[in-house]
Amino acid sequence: MNIEKNVHNALQNSGRVDEKVKIIAVTKTVGVDAINEALNLGLKDIGENRVQELVKKYDVIGSNGNFHMIGHLQTNKVKDIIDKVSLIHSLDRLSLAKELNKRAKMSDLVMDVLIQVNVAEEESKYGLKVDEVIPFLEKIMKYDNIKVKGLMTIAPFAEDPEEIRWVFKDLRRLGEVINSKGYDNVDMEILSMGMTNDYEVAIEEGSNMIRIGTGLFGKRNY
Ligand SMILES: *Cc1c(COP(=O)(O)O)cnc(C)c1O
Repeated sequence: MNIEKNVHNALQNSGRVDEKVKIIAVTKTVGVDAINEALNLGLKDIGENRVQELVKKYDVIGSNGNFHMIGHLQTNKVKDIIDKVSLIHSLDRLSLAKELNKRAKMSDLVMDVLIQVNVAEEESKYGLKVDEVIPFLEKIMKYDNIKVKGLMTIAPFAEDPEEIRWVFKDLRRLGEVINSKGYDNVDMEILSMGMTNDYEVAIEEGSNMIRIGTGLFGKRNY
């Protein structure tokens, strides 16, 4: 699969020829050797969904990679990753925002975060509902050591990604509404949406950050 070529085509299809899409290599269950290969090919951004696995790989790879936390984050594990990740994609509740702010302050840094939105309201997935996002933002804006950089969603699995195009469209529209409010300390620079099965449709709907696992490393063995 030629992901870069597909990304380019999807950008063209949507008239976004001058824009860029960042590819996050999702390395859960992938060994360090394969990750190093990906780094050698120029993929710098590494996505992990479990704290323990992220920390283990960080210890080996360190600053050669740019680590992203893309999975559900328990409040008591924030301290383990606060100084190791460049972006947290999964902010979904107030208690987590508070803890991130506290730990970021202790480490003397500002943590970049995305709000995870469960656009399709699937019971099996984390994330705020679309209409919960603005009230949530208004509550966390006062936290100076976290910076909201955008939104993230995981679309439902669909054999035909056209069926879930609306999910990406809704997330983009939500970002536009938030932008129009002009909040301090909040920007909507990043839309993290699209995985192996649906990234082209996601890009056509405005994604500028895709999270690709299987498409880069093959099927995962759990
Ligand atoms: C595993 C995972 C991905 C990558 O999924 P693929 O279908 O393998 O590309 C993307 N985002 C999140 C949050 C994940 O957990």
